[in-house]
Amino acid sequence: MTLRNQARAFLMQAASLTGADSLAFAIQKRKLRPHGLVVAMHETPASLEARFREQLEFASKHFTITTLEGFAKLWERSPESEASSKPLILFTFDDGRESNYSVAAPLLESFGGRGVFFVVPAFAASASTERALTFYRTRMNPDSTPGDENFEDWKPMDPAQIADLADRGHAIGNHTLTHERMVGLSPETLEREIGDSARQLASWTKKPVDAFAWTFGWDAIDGNGWRAIQRYHRFCFSPCAGVINTRYDHPSLIWRREIEVRYSVPEYRFCYSGLVDLWWRNRRARLRAMVRASSARNVE
Ligand SMILES: [Zn+2]
Repeated sequence: MTLRNQARAFLMQAASLTGADSLAFAIQKRKLRPHGLVVAMHETPASLEARFREQLEFASKHFTITTLEGFAKLWERSPESEASSKPLILFTFDDGRESNYSVAAPLLESFGGRGVFFVVPAFAASASTERALTFYRTRMNPDSTPGDENFEDWKPMDPAQIADLADRGHAIGNHTLTHERMVGLSPETLEREIGDSARQLASWTKKPVDAFAWTFGWDAIDGNGWRAIQRYHRFCFSPCAGVINTRYDHPSLIWRREIEVRYSVPEYRFCYSGLVDLWWRNRRARLRAMVRASSARNVE
């Protein structure tokens, strides 16, 4: 355990003992209206299905589990309508893993919600071939070492499963063609990674692809990358935690809090409470500044 993780674990325990996490929920509710939360998850293996259900039960006590369409209506809501209802929560899943298809989608449906599945078309196209594992190791999880695949949940969902999710009301989002980092790319590469990827997904789902999520870290993006995303997608989801407050936030830059299925009860309670967002404040400010600078360049 690193020092940083130790500090985080200590804070989580302290927050739950003192009730600070419940207080944070209350403050979240009162101060920021209309607002919503987007959760980012990765693997959802069958071995953790019961834990996932418990986590969703907890989340549904504090939030209304919604769909991408429902979430988009946040920007049309009045503060009065918000006062009487629970804030919206949207669940998103990165990389297009098969366990998202077999476990996450049906579970969300049982809670009346639908997910957003950010798919990497080149990974999906390699499903049930030997290339899939190599792709996962080299492109999705470069830190993975041989042998890890025995416990890692690395299998991709295939194009037929992706089309089936879209038919069932889930949203299929773009996560680049080959899980590329959105930094320092040429216009041609951006067009391939974003445009070709969006076209491939639309041809599988027969639906427009409204959402994009960039890969890797919060800062694995630059102004050119962000502008290229705007050409194809209404919603751009970040890997940077925060509450979405319609007074300040726009669909072109949406915060996501990573809360994985494998998290322990104190860990996910802490994450849902909103205390974790404090860590991400400067990063949100830097991303907002990047977007402002790129939008200004767009107008020139
Ligand atoms: Zn990813």
